[in-house]
Amino acid sequence: MRIAVLSDIHSNLVALDAVLDHAGSVDAIWQLGDVVGYGPEPDAVVARLVERHATGVRGNHDAAAIGGREIDWFNADARAAAEWTRDTISADTRSWLAALPERATVDDITLVHGSPRDPLREYVTDRLTASENLDVLDTRHGLHGHTHVPVAWVAAPDRVVLVHAQEDLRLELEQHRTLLNPGSVGQPRDGDPRAAYLVLDLDARMVSWHRVGYDVGAVQSAIRAAGLPGRLADRLAVGA
Ligand code: ZN
Repeated sequence: MRIAVLSDIHSNLVALDAVLDHAGSVDAIWQLGDVVGYGPEPDAVVARLVERHATGVRGNHDAAAIGGREIDWFNADARAAAEWTRDTISADTRSWLAALPERATVDDITLVHGSPRDPLREYVTDRLTASENLDVLDTRHGLHGHTHVPVAWVAAPDRVVLVHAQEDLRLELEQHRTLLNPGSVGQPRDGDPRAAYLVLDLDARMVSWHRVGYDVGAVQSAIRAAGLPGRLADRLAVGA
């Protein structure tokens, strides 16, 4: 069974379609939250995920889009985009977002947006946070997003090791417990503007990271045409 794992799509349909195209025929699509927010096409992104029978969890931007207090934590651009998303999304999109759980478990894998112990808020960006979360994780592996940076945190016997997930990195799942972050489909922040995702091969017990170029200019134009903050368009060109 091959699963495409996507996170932080952020209403970027062009990037999502490029990733789905690149992934080809997979057996399942899992998404790790922040389906909406920042980008210009929330309804179309949710419709595509419904069409592809994607399952997954809720992110802080998804919560904000349906009226959650998460919006109080946002900077000015994120808040403006969240308010725009609230006003724009259809009733169908709203109820699909509202039905997403904060966490999901499939076999020995947990899916969350932020971190296993705080799914909507915590960023796993340092070794201590990763290690504490691996300690409370009640499955062997965890999939998470939120930072928009593709990495793996690997629980080696003596310490937790950070692996920067370069394009086409492959990792065996059997050896150690891990926290795996696919990076962001719709707004990468690791200096590479290409969409990021990972593929989980549950038969081979392997995970691999991938990058896919897409028409950034088209999405920038759509962001500006929607009246969303221009900085949200600018950052897509540099992956920051
Ligand atoms: Zn996000």
